[in-house]
Formats: sequence, structure tokens, C-alpha cells
Amino acid sequence: MKALLLIDIQNDFLPGGALAVPEGDKVIPVANQLQSRFEVVVATQDWHPTNHKSFAKNHSGKKPFEKIDLDGLEQVLWPTHCVQGTPGAQLSAAINLNKAEAIFRKGTNPEIDSYSGFYDNGHRKTTALADYLRGKQVSQIYIMGLAGDYCVYYTAKDALELEFETFLIEDGTRAINPDDFEKAKADITNLGGQIIQSNQL
Ligand SMILES: [Zn+2]
Repeated sequence: MKALLLIDIQNDFLPGGALAVPEGDKVIPVANQLQSRFEVVVATQDWHPTNHKSFAKNHSGKKPFEKIDLDGLEQVLWPTHCVQGTPGAQLSAAINLNKAEAIFRKGTNPEIDSYSGFYDNGHRKTTALADYLRGKQVSQIYIMGLAGDYCVYYTAKDALELEFETFLIEDGTRAINPDDFEKAKADITNLGGQIIQSNQL
């Protein structure tokens, strides 16, 4: 069984949003076009409390995009984004989510960030996404969305570690930093994942 994972296609990551990914809106038509080809469609949603420690505003004297040590892990400090219940945290209204039976929220613990759809950044807690997919007999995972150098990348890495056959849909993904996305794609390939285009599906 094949699953499509739509990663964090939320208003704050789209043009005009608090943490806009360049050309982030370009992934939406790809998401809408591909869903009918998958038996299982799942979305993830970054969903932070306002006191989340990934926000620069919660560290005095720190600015967005500075890096700090947060409880033993390197943490990029972000502009305030995807705050629970705000319009910026909503999945884009332009995505057709009729086939998405489940939305997995992440980043809810104020003490730790969560890029991957499967675990927080320290692998301290699971979202239960892997159990959900296994419960649906999914063995192949196709990942796309925002952003390619963070949440898409870490989701793909965890999918590989969890021994799913893993594909990253490149034209359905946009990144914050293109150089970091190149490194991310190389890493995914090295770990046994595949980088594909939506027209190969
Ligand atoms: Zn976040």
C-alpha cells in the first residue's frame, strides 16, 4: 500500500505567511493532482503553543534564524509561526483534503521542536504516524510539502529509519534554503530513499 504524506502545507509557510517558504504555493497543485493516485493520504500540521521554545521571541536578546542549544539539541530560532488556533496554522484552503483521513499535529510540546511527522527532534516521543501507516498496511511512503530542508527532510529520514520504502517528490516540495535542500536530497539518497518527480507517478 502507498501513502502520500503532505507535510505542513500551512498558511504561515506560504507566501505572505509568518515563515514563508519561497514559492511554497507551487506545491499545492501537485498535492491536489496526486491524491487520487494514493490509497492513503495523510497531512501533518505544525501546531505550536505560543510559548514554544523554537520561537526567537521566547529567548531574550535572540533574533529569528539564530541557532541555540535547546536541551542538548541545536535549535534554529524561528519567527513565531503556526500558533495553535490561528489562521497561519491552518492548512491551506486551496488544498483538497477530501482524501486525507488523518492529520497529525506536531510541535505541541513547548520544550522541543518537531520537524519530522514521526517524532520530535530528540526522538523522545512519537506522533504515532508510523503505527497509523502500518495499521493501513502501508509500505511505501511518498513525501512532499514544506519545507524541503526541514520538515520534509526529517520526515523522510525517519521514514527510512523506520524501514518504509521512501520517496521524496521534488517538484511537490520547496525549501527555505536551496543549498540545504541539495544536502538533504543527497542524504536521503545515501540512506536509501529516492528523489522523484510527480510525473513519474
Ligand atoms: Zn514550527
